Amino acid sequence: MLNSLESKVLARVDETMEEMIDFLRALVRIPTVNPPGADYTDCAELIGDKLRDFGYEVSYVEATGLPECTSEHPRLNVIGRMAGMRSRPVLHFNGHIDVVPPGSGWTVDPFAAGVRDGRIYGRGATDQKAGIAASIFAVEAIRRLGVQLVGSVEQSGTVDEESGGMAGVAYLAGRGYLTRDSIDYVIITEPLDYDRICLGHRGLFWFEVAMQGRIAHGSMPFLGASAIDRMARLIERVERELKPRLAARKTKMPVEPPDARSATINVNAISGGQSLDEAQTPCVADLCRAIFDRRFLMEESLDEVRAEIIEVVESLRKDDPALSYQMKDLLITHPTMTASDAALVSTMSGAVAEITGREPPLIASPGTYDQKHFSRIAGIDQCIAYGPGILNLAHQPDEYCELEHLRLACRAMALGTLRLVGANE
Ligand SMILES: [Zn+2]
Repeated sequence: MLNSLESKVLARVDETMEEMIDFLRALVRIPTVNPPGADYTDCAELIGDKLRDFGYEVSYVEATGLPECTSEHPRLNVIGRMAGMRSRPVLHFNGHIDVVPPGSGWTVDPFAAGVRDGRIYGRGATDQKAGIAASIFAVEAIRRLGVQLVGSVEQSGTVDEESGGMAGVAYLAGRGYLTRDSIDYVIITEPLDYDRICLGHRGLFWFEVAMQGRIAHGSMPFLGASAIDRMARLIERVERELKPRLAARKTKMPVEPPDARSATINVNAISGGQSLDEAQTPCVADLCRAIFDRRFLMEESLDEVRAEIIEVVESLRKDDPALSYQMKDLLITHPTMTASDAALVSTMSGAVAEITGREPPLIASPGTYDQKHFSRIAGIDQCIAYGPGILNLAHQPDEYCELEHLRLACRAMALGTLRLVGANE
């Protein structure tokens, strides 16, 4: 049930729709494509200017010292803190400003931010500039009614989520801008659909295996040892033995789609022997490298995951005593999930249910996003992803966001803010 203040705030959200859409269109028109990390400064400043207009103290944090932060492509983050007393609880909204390259297959200009049939089209419309617009206008609707909040609100626009977030959320958390000492709740406005709440994500372990071989003349391969054959045997064993074992391992995390509730492994890249595009000379391959993407569950530990892989590789030795290889960790992200009975989850669930008329499913994401940095570096245990946009349209051609979803998510965020932070009537 809504009280009268809540009803007034929701009505105010609806009144700001046109302004919110204009702001979202302006965001989409800045092609913050990553890689390489283009136009971040323009986008961060557009957000910063808006936050300043809306009563925030704004600071910009450039990820200086990181190799990806160059004069050509500076990594500029923006943080807004509601001016006035910094009383608790503090709710922090975060959205990433980078978008993936448009790719091919578009029927509209990916950076024109055209509006048609109740949708706004463009790269980033769904993932995730709609989320940024929604959280800023949700809080603004409250402010325009002159409501005094008990606690406080912060907003941040951060870079490089699509490439791991080291210059974005990880940088801010590592330098004390985002910490459990100053923030109680985090809502990451990723496009998990306006009617669902995402509690966390699986872990990932990227690693490289380099199989060694012994070079010999290609007409007498029996005199050498092919690194490609060795890799083929490894991949065959992964396929035949490891994959069924992983598929049988189910997590309690409510990962969507449900097929992703098992552990998985994928060969991301492979290269061996001579370069395919060059003239060939007959040789047995003495090197074959492959990169694997292993997604792991809350119920698995990284040590077990790594040991299991090594065991599979080592098992090849039985038929191939001369086997020689190196294994190298490339990227590790641990799984993270906010407890489903946390205040942030129950309050936002109640707010979404109020707006949509349905209890929102609590889900987890198969892939990772910036929640890992909020939980592991900033140490904040109440963090969710909630935002408008259709998850399946993220990174696709003709990406769009339904304006109605933008409105509903903005209403849920406004209601959630009132209830999480508290209002003095
Ligand atoms: Zn995203």
